[in-house]
Amino acid sequence: LNGHNQLHVYFFPFMAHGHLIPAVDMAKLFASRGVKTTIVITPLNAAFFSKTIQKHSSSGRAEIQARIIDFPAARAGLPEQCENLDFITSRNLGMEATINFFRASTMLQEPFEKLLEQDRPACVVADMFYPWATESAAKFGIPRLVFHGTSCFAQCVGEALASHAPQQRVESDAEPFVVPGLPDEVRLTKRQLSPSAALVGGTSFLSQLFKRVRESYSEVYGTVFNSFYELEPAYVDHFRKILGRKAWYVGPVSLCNGDVEDKASRGKGAVIDKDECLKWLDSKEANAVVYVCFGSQADFTAQQLREIAVGIESSGQPFIWVVRGRNDVEEDWLPEGFQERTAGRGLIIQGWAPQVLILEHAAIGGFVTHCGWNSTLEGIAAGLPMVTWPMGAEQFYNEKLVTEVVKIGLEVGVEQSSTYGVKMIRSEAVERAVRRIMSKEDEVMAEMRRKVKGLGEAARKAVEAGGSSYADLGALIEELELMS
Ligand code: UDP
Repeated sequence: LNGHNQLHVYFFPFMAHGHLIPAVDMAKLFASRGVKTTIVITPLNAAFFSKTIQKHSSSGRAEIQARIIDFPAARAGLPEQCENLDFITSRNLGMEATINFFRASTMLQEPFEKLLEQDRPACVVADMFYPWATESAAKFGIPRLVFHGTSCFAQCVGEALASHAPQQRVESDAEPFVVPGLPDEVRLTKRQLSPSAALVGGTSFLSQLFKRVRESYSEVYGTVFNSFYELEPAYVDHFRKILGRKAWYVGPVSLCNGDVEDKASRGKGAVIDKDECLKWLDSKEANAVVYVCFGSQADFTAQQLREIAVGIESSGQPFIWVVRGRNDVEEDWLPEGFQERTAGRGLIIQGWAPQVLILEHAAIGGFVTHCGWNSTLEGIAAGLPMVTWPMGAEQFYNEKLVTEVVKIGLEVGVEQSSTYGVKMIRSEAVERAVRRIMSKEDEVMAEMRRKVKGLGEAARKAVEAGGSSYADLGALIEELELMS
């Protein structure tokens, strides 16, 4: 299609990096296949992505444009310019601010509908946290797709928990129970559940919102996943055949970033120069460096940071360690003399790192991750075995996928979601896991490494012409063209 008949798809991400980054990548992916795409975004977040959007709107096969709507921070009782969930966690504003952030997000319905009325796109891909977007789109006769931002596995776990509620039949918070009806026997404890499952049946604003989110899953036209068939085939089939949902698997979307500039500029600007970072990595041997990063929300205490420091130092491995906002900046968070002792061997990035650029470098041999889905999938695409350190959301489910279902990683040993209080992970556990994941002698590790390398290759094949994700995206575009 061309001219005024060109397919036009709207992307409406939740305003947090873990949702914005894959949505923008997905828009690029659609644009690379000739689809006109629009990203609905707030001013501050638009600034984070403006380079990417401009570059792709001038050079791609089809246009990417941004439609800016104001974020009603003040109206929801939040500080000015609080347009990204990252702002709340890095400043440690607490649960009330988080709830208000969701309230503000709900207020986006009206300005969103105004845009739909003006632009009349052929389809809306809206984040799971906007359950009302289906109704908004329907007002203008537009089909709505949902983007969960997680693995199909985690989505299946979440839906099994919502429909069977096994968590309500166990007394103790620490007692493992089986999540029924899944292709594998998956065990979780109540303390590892995502807030949406933990809040089933409650009456609070968040309980009600998550209830609405769950109900909205079956109302949508379909689901788009940032995943690929070969990674979790049993769950892709389960989602379609058992849960009876229409879905497309178009990932890993991070792989649409072909050049160094694109890889380095995902999300807010990196605090390290990309060339400096690459030069450092080039000076290291292949598979020698462990990359340690906990996503966009992590907020460790100084004490926990010290344990991590001691653990990676005693592992003897070269490392890149990304450290984000700390709520107790006054306190020393590095052991005395750490930087002198690890000079040349380790690189600490305080702030935003060019993660995909780093992960794909040949010097990286392992990844300590919080199991956010984007990071997990980026690690898989780069063929890296992982140490799993989940903290909240659906990260404990992704940990199960990595360590028990696909078997490409080791747990560091986190027992519970941070909403239950944070238990310290000691330096010995960090050291042990890092040594093992990087070991060239350990046979179990050799098998994991072989397996994840194979999955990395499968990921690349999936997004190339003839691959499963390439075909799924093609099929989705075709279907939308037929409907529009
Ligand atoms: N990321 C990055 N630099 C950082 C931290 C994170 O580029 O210093 C990116 C990372 O590559 C991923 C996203 O931010 O694409 C984080 O998403 P994820 O789902 O892993 O975790 P979340 O931040 O949502 O907890």
